[in-house]
Amino acid sequence: MKSGKSKQKSGKKIVILGAGESGTGAAILAKKKGFDVFVSDYGKIGSEYKSVLTHHDIDFEENGHSFDRIEKAAEIIKSPGIPDTALPVKRATEKGISVISEIEFAARFTHAKLVCITGSNGKTTTTLLIWHILKNAGLNVGLAGNVGKSFAWQVAEADFDIYVLEISSFQLDGMFNFKADIAVLTNLTPDHLDRYDNRFENYIESKFRILQNMSEEDAFIFNADDPVTARELKKRDIIPKKYSLTLSNFPRENGAWLENNELIINIHKSRFNMTLEQLALQGKHNAYNSMAASVAARLLDVRKENIKQSLSDFENIPHRLEFVSNVHGITFINDSKATNINSTWYALEYVEAPTVWIVGGQDKGNDYSELMALVKKKVKAIVCLGVDNSKLHAAFEDMVDLMVDAGSAKEAVTYAYNLAKKGEIVLLSPACASFDLFENYQDRGDQFKKAVKEL
Ligand code: ADP
Repeated sequence: MKSGKSKQKSGKKIVILGAGESGTGAAILAKKKGFDVFVSDYGKIGSEYKSVLTHHDIDFEENGHSFDRIEKAAEIIKSPGIPDTALPVKRATEKGISVISEIEFAARFTHAKLVCITGSNGKTTTTLLIWHILKNAGLNVGLAGNVGKSFAWQVAEADFDIYVLEISSFQLDGMFNFKADIAVLTNLTPDHLDRYDNRFENYIESKFRILQNMSEEDAFIFNADDPVTARELKKRDIIPKKYSLTLSNFPRENGAWLENNELIINIHKSRFNMTLEQLALQGKHNAYNSMAASVAARLLDVRKENIKQSLSDFENIPHRLEFVSNVHGITFINDSKATNINSTWYALEYVEAPTVWIVGGQDKGNDYSELMALVKKKVKAIVCLGVDNSKLHAAFEDMVDLMVDAGSAKEAVTYAYNLAKKGEIVLLSPACASFDLFENYQDRGDQFKKAVKEL
């Protein structure tokens, strides 16, 4: 199905902007393929990446850009973290130099099948689930994209038959000729709008690039219950075969649905079913993720029994509705990765007992009204964990008995512990980015877990 190897001549000048995981991987691959490679990073390059570059005899600079060298490039590979507004990108684009992502570059040099996952939430979980199923089934499969080791690096040094790739919208923006064999779109809710001129349409457009260049033999797996996806599909001409996922109770031609509390996976009239209780990952959102993974695995001919086994023995990844501990009958759940409203919605939907909810951080333009019904029903007290909690107070003050502000994870846990009773839940699901008080969401989740363990 793939179109084949690159026909580019060696010696061509390639400049790589950003020397993180993806940039370093791209540099190694480009060097191996005989390009003239130069890596430029505006900041300091991590010592491990620096030694890798040196080891491969790759020319690099840090703490600034040499525009004269960058602008001599025939092509630029840009790290997904660098926005189009960054000066070297703007200047190169004005000069007509093509700027691509590491994923676009690496795909030119592999014949492997590509299973690609994008969407607003659930990418990592779904990617890891698919990888887990395929690996357990004995396939020679690599994991790359936003998780694990860079795709380009693996294309340079490994020899996989299949890759499962988590792909963000930032990577998609630099993808033009790339073609997925199986594409999964988990859902579409507003996120990262600061990089899309605050226009949801632009972000949606970026996500749909996952389907570009796909043919009728390829597969597109999507969540039919997601209102934005459903609306967009009505407007668009979709070329690959469609496989829909729904938790509603009516059968579809191809895909997965729910019937009498059982998931039915149906691919070209070959069916199997699983109860929701058999799934290792609980919660409605994870039912969608498990369905997407099952459909993708069936399309790659993995046996039904293998899929069932893998979906039931998958170990949850940290910071996503992660059970931390039960302290004196109070259950603590870490959902630090919930950095937007939609993911927190699923967390609140999931919890059953009266809940003390720890929320807040750097607000990305949240509209809290979507959470109000669930908060009214399930939340007894709120602990705000952010520098500026004014929006949260305005939204929820009248809805719960108690609302307090905490300045650290430890303080938040202490408040929550005192507010919760036996049989109740303490849920960290911030709906916000973490950078006001923490290094990143992992740091926030780790500090939360540490504070719980110290109770
Ligand atoms: P991503 O890689 O897209 O950020 P993750 O799998 O890391 O997604 O999960 C991020 C957050 O979203 C977690 O809080 C998780 O519980 C929640 N989540 C996971 N899957 C879904 C889904 N299908 N829909 C909505 N929220 C989800």
